[in-house]
Amino acid sequence: MADPEVDLSKKYDAVIIGSGAAGGMAAHVLTTHGLQVLLLEAGKKLNIEQELRSMEWPYDNANRGGLPPGSHSLNHNEYTIRRPPYGPGFEKSKNLYSYIGNSDYMKNIVVNERDNPYTGTNYAWVRARCLGGKTNIWGRLALRLSDYDFKAKDRDGYGENWPISYSDIAPYYDKVDLYLGITGVKENLPHLPDSIFQRPTKLNCAEVTLKQGIQKMGRVLTQYRAGVTTDGLKHNKYRSRCYGRGACSRKGGCDIHAAFDSPTGLIYPAMDTGNLTLRTNSVAREITVDPETGKASGVHFTDSQTMKDYTVRGKTVIVAASTLESARLLLLSKSRLYPNGLANSSGHVGHNFCEHIMGPHVAGQATDLVGKPPTLDDGRPGSFYLTRFRNLAEKHPKFIRGYGFEGGSGSSMFPPGTDSSGFGASFKEEIRKNQGSYIAMGAFGEVLSRYENFVDLDPVVKDKWGIPALRFHYKFGDNEHRMAEDMKETAQEMFEAAGLKIIFVSDRVLTEGWSIHELGTARMGNDAKTSVLNQFQQSHDVKNLFVVDGSAFVNASCQNPTWTIMALCWRSCDYLADQLAKNEL
Ligand SMILES: Cc1cc2nc3c(=O)[nH]c(=O)nc-3n(C[C@H](O)[C@H](O)[C@H](O)COP(=O)(O)OP(=O)(O)OC[C@H]3O[C@@H](n4cnc5c(N)ncnc54)[C@H](O)[C@@H]3O)c2cc1C
Ligand code: SF4
Repeated sequence: MADPEVDLSKKYDAVIIGSGAAGGMAAHVLTTHGLQVLLLEAGKKLNIEQELRSMEWPYDNANRGGLPPGSHSLNHNEYTIRRPPYGPGFEKSKNLYSYIGNSDYMKNIVVNERDNPYTGTNYAWVRARCLGGKTNIWGRLALRLSDYDFKAKDRDGYGENWPISYSDIAPYYDKVDLYLGITGVKENLPHLPDSIFQRPTKLNCAEVTLKQGIQKMGRVLTQYRAGVTTDGLKHNKYRSRCYGRGACSRKGGCDIHAAFDSPTGLIYPAMDTGNLTLRTNSVAREITVDPETGKASGVHFTDSQTMKDYTVRGKTVIVAASTLESARLLLLSKSRLYPNGLANSSGHVGHNFCEHIMGPHVAGQATDLVGKPPTLDDGRPGSFYLTRFRNLAEKHPKFIRGYGFEGGSGSSMFPPGTDSSGFGASFKEEIRKNQGSYIAMGAFGEVLSRYENFVDLDPVVKDKWGIPALRFHYKFGDNEHRMAEDMKETAQEMFEAAGLKIIFVSDRVLTEGWSIHELGTARMGNDAKTSVLNQFQQSHDVKNLFVVDGSAFVNASCQNPTWTIMALCWRSCDYLADQLAKNEL
């Protein structure tokens, strides 16, 4: 279906750029306030149920779920031995995807690296250019941050505090929980606040063994807190409750939308208000500025299919293109008034870029489960989360901040161990006997926000639409490497404490970017000299410009960011609507 012609004569109350977690939430909140909103999305509107095919059996897929011939997804070694842009050296592959695009179900969701190059230091940049962005395939772990994160500087003296406290954002986390649905179990931890949970999933035998084994160490393993509705949402006709089909771990997304995704969770309901105009295939290339007032006046974009250019006008502009793309867009929006890019008088746009370090992990076995009858364990939208325990009550001598583990165990369609060597009846017997007894977990740790970790525009390389590519200047530092050593040691120590047989322990750190939790490129703060946005994600320099995605984070914490992105965005959009009504923007 052709995209609608946008009414260029109209001045929208708000023009939103990007339709993922942040842009979708902005559309929901602002249309609920009765504002006339235009949502510009660079990618296509996909028939997402057709893409995800959650219930398709591997043998019904021509490639057993793998990529078709002529397509390639980058692996860890390739990220290590090549430098971006990752096109050269892969000439035989017509389509080239990031490491996450390694299945037939992802190939239309993640970008083709050839059309969307970037340069600089090694970075596994995962982008999803389609309606809903990365929320179509996200892992769903939905965690809150706490004052251990918002006020981290007060605890260890490093970096900056956020301009908000947990009490400012807590009511908005509640709103997100209730509007979108989340499953989990209350633990009453000060560093990982509870949500308003729907029906929890169950831990299986090996997971309970680990949970109990580490209790004596004061460590907490809890059910995966998934951004999934397990009880259903009466107010949303586009989403079903989770039927525990266990398919989400195989295919990335959920074709009945029990797992939150931005289109069904936020954008379709916003369209039902009659206040939202959606235009997909619309690549924003510049935020335009009124030279008289210095305020944002609208957005200049290119139709990704026809290559035609358009300019739309808005009373406010809301940037939600995802952390790195948002920084790129601000840097692209240079003008006589803003020669360093928009909202960049501090020089901090693109800087303080941070995320999570990944790689260290442990795999083991609950030997008492070997030979036991199989159990139905994969009917869950997630397994377990082992919460942060470093630098809470005590100070670690070698590093600051913390990390948590995501892991799982149990029977599944492709049980771990199927890569064991052997053949015939004895091989099958070996697999059957051991399946269900394996357990593994991997860590996600905070990468410190540092000014010298940054992105800027490449002076030469451009994308398919002639827009300058992003250039990375980003590396993990000593704190991260020391933390990674500790991740390996504690993973091993906890499996031992629980009496699990250790099969494999690794301290190998994955390429920068692997966590897909990029943050911090337009951070919030009270000081306009060292931050880009105020506590409402409003530009210090341009008061009708808001940047409502992970760019605003002051530090990465070690908790996954998406629930916080949406809670912050809700708070900021309430503020925006209020200010607009008072004619203050
Ligand atoms: C495989 C995977 C697993 C993940 N697991 C988790 C998890 O367990 N927990 C968690 O918290 N997070 C997870 N994430 C991260 C999560 O998806 C992101 O934090 C979240 O989607 C960020 O929302 P966003 O709106 O900032 O960006 P996105 O969701 O990426 O949306 C940005 C949108 O902006 C559009 N856009 C970009 N540039 C332009 C432009 N110039 N003009 C117009 N539109 C533009 C893009 O096409 C895209 O649709 C995961 C991500 C992936 C891919
Ligand atoms: S387990 Fe639940 S969330 Fe996952 S694909 Fe199935 S229904 Fe969707």
